[in-house]
Amino acid sequence: MMTGNDACTEPRVSGRSNARTLTTPIDPAEYESLGATLRDRVDGEVRFDSYARVLYASDGSIYQAQPAGVVCPKTVADVQATVETATEHSVPLLPRGTGSSLAGQAVGHGCIVLDFTKHMDEIVDIDPVARRATVEPGCVQDHLDDQLSPHGLKFAPDPASSNRATIGGGIGNNSTGAHSVRYGITDAYTEELRVVLADGTLIHTREIVLDGEEYEAIIERGGTEAILYATVRELVNSHSAEIDRRYPSLKRSVSGYNLQKVIYENEAGDRVINLSKLFVGAEGTLGIVVEACVSLVTCPEETALALYCFDDLRAALQAVPRALEHPVSAVELMDEEVFRLARESEGYAEYARDVPTETAAALLLEWDDELVDDFDAAIGEVTSRFVDDGRAFAVREAHSDEAQQRLWKLRKAAIPLLMSLEGDPKPYPFIEDATVPPEALAEYVEQFESILNAHDTEAAYFAHAGSGTLHIRPILNLKAESGVETMHSITDDVTDLVVEHDGSFSGEHGDGLARTEYNPKLYGQALWTAFKRLKTAFDPDWLLNPGTVVYREDSTDPGPPSDRGVGADMRANLRYGPEYQSIEPQTQLDFDEEGGFSHLVELCNGCGTCRQTTGDVMCPTYRASKDEIQSTRGRANMLRAAISGELPEETLQSDRFHREVLDLCIGCKGCKSDCPTGVDMAKLKAELKHQHHEQTGVGLRSKLFGHIDTLAAIGSATAPLSTIGPRLPGSRLLLEKLFGIARNRELPRFTRESLTAWFDSRDTSSIPAADATERVVLFPDTYTNYSYPAVGKAAIKVLEAAGVHVRIGDELTPSGRAAFSMGLLDLASDRAQTNVQTLAPRVADGWTVVFVEPSDAVMFQDEYLDLLEGDRVRAVSEAAEGIMEFLDRRRLIEALPLATPTETLAYHGHCNQTAIHRDHHAVGVLRRAGYEVDPLDSSCCGMAGSFGYEAEHYELSMAIGQQLFDLIGESDGEVVTAPGGSCRSQLSTYTDEDRPPHPIETIARLLQ
Ligand SMILES: Cc1cc2nc3c(=O)[nH]c(=O)nc-3n(C[C@H](O)[C@H](O)[C@H](O)COP(=O)(O)OP(=O)(O)OC[C@H]3O[C@@H](n4cnc5c(N)ncnc54)[C@H](O)[C@@H]3O)c2cc1C
Ligand code: SF4
Ligand code: SF4
Repeated sequence: MMTGNDACTEPRVSGRSNARTLTTPIDPAEYESLGATLRDRVDGEVRFDSYARVLYASDGSIYQAQPAGVVCPKTVADVQATVETATEHSVPLLPRGTGSSLAGQAVGHGCIVLDFTKHMDEIVDIDPVARRATVEPGCVQDHLDDQLSPHGLKFAPDPASSNRATIGGGIGNNSTGAHSVRYGITDAYTEELRVVLADGTLIHTREIVLDGEEYEAIIERGGTEAILYATVRELVNSHSAEIDRRYPSLKRSVSGYNLQKVIYENEAGDRVINLSKLFVGAEGTLGIVVEACVSLVTCPEETALALYCFDDLRAALQAVPRALEHPVSAVELMDEEVFRLARESEGYAEYARDVPTETAAALLLEWDDELVDDFDAAIGEVTSRFVDDGRAFAVREAHSDEAQQRLWKLRKAAIPLLMSLEGDPKPYPFIEDATVPPEALAEYVEQFESILNAHDTEAAYFAHAGSGTLHIRPILNLKAESGVETMHSITDDVTDLVVEHDGSFSGEHGDGLARTEYNPKLYGQALWTAFKRLKTAFDPDWLLNPGTVVYREDSTDPGPPSDRGVGADMRANLRYGPEYQSIEPQTQLDFDEEGGFSHLVELCNGCGTCRQTTGDVMCPTYRASKDEIQSTRGRANMLRAAISGELPEETLQSDRFHREVLDLCIGCKGCKSDCPTGVDMAKLKAELKHQHHEQTGVGLRSKLFGHIDTLAAIGSATAPLSTIGPRLPGSRLLLEKLFGIARNRELPRFTRESLTAWFDSRDTSSIPAADATERVVLFPDTYTNYSYPAVGKAAIKVLEAAGVHVRIGDELTPSGRAAFSMGLLDLASDRAQTNVQTLAPRVADGWTVVFVEPSDAVMFQDEYLDLLEGDRVRAVSEAAEGIMEFLDRRRLIEALPLATPTETLAYHGHCNQTAIHRDHHAVGVLRRAGYEVDPLDSSCCGMAGSFGYEAEHYELSMAIGQQLFDLIGESDGEVVTAPGGSCRSQLSTYTDEDRPPHPIETIARLLQ
């Protein structure tokens, strides 16, 4: 680790040259003018700057291609205007939802991206009787399901990414999930669409009886719509034998175009055409969906799970067809690698606890009450086939919601666990959803393994086994030429194998840039030619997501007289190719654990989990703004562009980069734990702020906030004058003008008698050290010490009542949290050093360091380890505990004489503490004290130390806070309690009353 003086000198360079196939620099002037035209014609946002191009250059796949710019349309007219402008300028178009795709279909070189998630994300209508919902394309699937749940309904396809993936993207990809065994895939539920075609025409697709009145009317009207119906009908008719022969008969097959599903016999026995089915799975290449009407299914009221453990992967796979003979709603597979990684991971270990260590592979089966009446009997039947006959050696049943959730969490952890492998070789998705008939799985996997062995690589196995989709991700280093060639060669071999087994190259994630190359192999020449004719009929200039699903052999193929849509080599446009290079900045913080600064940045794989809008802490700024640049992914992509030369070298230290990319990260640390690969943006930000300060000097406000402890000490010494001053008329305005402190914020009050002064004035601790069960140094954080000593007094009261000897660490310095958040890392290091030196002897003697303020506790528990090295800091860090954690771990609350509470609580946890898995203690303690507690599913409160006080951040801070206020409004808890000082201050703006209590105060009140 570097010290402050030698930090930020010459960057280390790793990798090779920076050329990138097919991502030649875009002419900024050309795109500026296109952007200007669009700004004139479109109501929604239009961004054609270099930042926007980086933000939308990648998705959840291994690919990267810079678009021309981005439009966030507000209306259908905006979409039409964009399409018309793109046609005039001959620029390709790419509709996009969350961009969580895994095959590269949500990126496009030189395209205008239409991002539907910002404005066109509404639910238009829910008709519970007809069991239909109409939505805009940017509607997130879980959001729709939340609104459907009171009606006992849901949208059946359930991709694992449903907490951020959109219905439009699901239609684009023909998405599906673990329950495809039961419900099938998205095309079965897509009934009607409104689609903007490549020429700007808006059509309404639905089931239309062939040669019926409606059909005839369309044909008679003529125009684009008529041509499309006639072309599709002719193509299907003339290729019917080939369609029967070539399309795999699987529950899920999403490669190519849905020619096999567009004409069918409906329930009334009529032969109908429904173009909606063709747009499903077309990956935005045939038209732009602007509204979708989808059918719904009823939600089962109850489910049950059983995990069957096998000592051999093949035996587990052979059991799949037998499992399908039972009325199951899901059959999922996990192998030993998944369990091993889960056991080694802090976040997932608890979910793997009950899985026997000798398990080589396990099948997870689900039943629901719409399929079976008696779960015990249903599970019993399978158990007698699998366990009693010796195929499986153990079964773990899960009946309660909690137990089932644990097993599903384990299953869904597979990808994140694999992706967080250290180093450059990573398990990459490129052939990860190949699908074969379930009865062929065992043989297929054996042959797949031979291919991997022949390529000297390995993989972990997990699968939607019931549908024959095996998620195998070979572990490769794509930064090396050999890795890229191995990827191509494995794909060649695996696609042969899949064809041999009558399977599909994609049973879930689509073609994109990864698999389009192979579609001719899957479908044969006749259908391949039909696909190209279909594409050209819908999109004569190949403007819509060109090169995806179909490609042109050369520029003489049907299409424009340019090379648009020519070629689909899966090795082009890689995010990390052999040409990738990145700088490794020298750092003040220790990034060894993350494999270095750049490795931490590169851990972002684009999965988009940081765009989830409920649950977890990550990412509050995205939730409040719905701006890609304010998601963890947006920040990580910008950082990667800055360290890899995609943006100019000086970007990282530019004011603009700090203002637009880093300053709006509130440092809540949510991403550290909630991001599946642990992209710790708060740490990256602190490091870069530090480096920026080194180059440009520290601003006055940063100095003020970084030294808030010194100011608070002066404020306390001069109280009440110091408290009256900022409340005088005009003073807040002055503070805003001089220091950029938001005028709407009330500054903390200071008490004349600090907590330490009060403690010193007591005779002695009421529990002598010799008689005590535990000895504790209570950390006098700035906020508690000088502004709200009542919280510290409550902690002391409870601790002493529990027989704990307490001393206040008045010889300690502030924790350095404020300095750290401002990027004043030298100051933070000094503080850390002093505190560690002072506390180390006591800690060695068995004392615990206890905090009432969570952000200070976490500073000791986490950031100190990044700032300092050695045994002493580790010992002090381990001895640091939040007050609720301390009480919980030692079960001290049970012995206290407590009155029965008269109110119920809503609990808002602290984001920093949640991020390091220490927040759950508070609810446990409060409940054991007798409180009924509603733990709010809240993120950060929006204050984040000084962030909420900064004038330019006030509105965002309040927008983040509003989400917490809404949750409180919905909660049954009568009193809100929160351990964080900043949170309580933000909450006081909501309640208009005194600050809500710290949980320790609510306990102290009960002491008799
Ligand atoms: C960790 C992880 C797990 C996943 N699990 C699953 C899974 O279980 N099952 C599954 O099916 N997928 C899964 N995916 C892939 C992906 O998340 C889903 O396919 C998802 O439905 C895509 O939604 P999106 O909003 O991100 O779409 P995007 O990625 O933004 O777009 C998907 C495609 O649809 C097109 N599109 C988007 N909007 C429109 C529109 N309005 N009109 C026309 N075309 C449009 C795009 O051009 C693109 O080709 C997973 C991805 C990740 C990262
Ligand atoms: S930051 Fe994390 S959660 Fe967000 S896209 Fe990247 S890997 Fe996924
Ligand atoms: S630290 Fe918080 S605000 Fe910053 S990127 Fe992570 S989750 Fe978002």
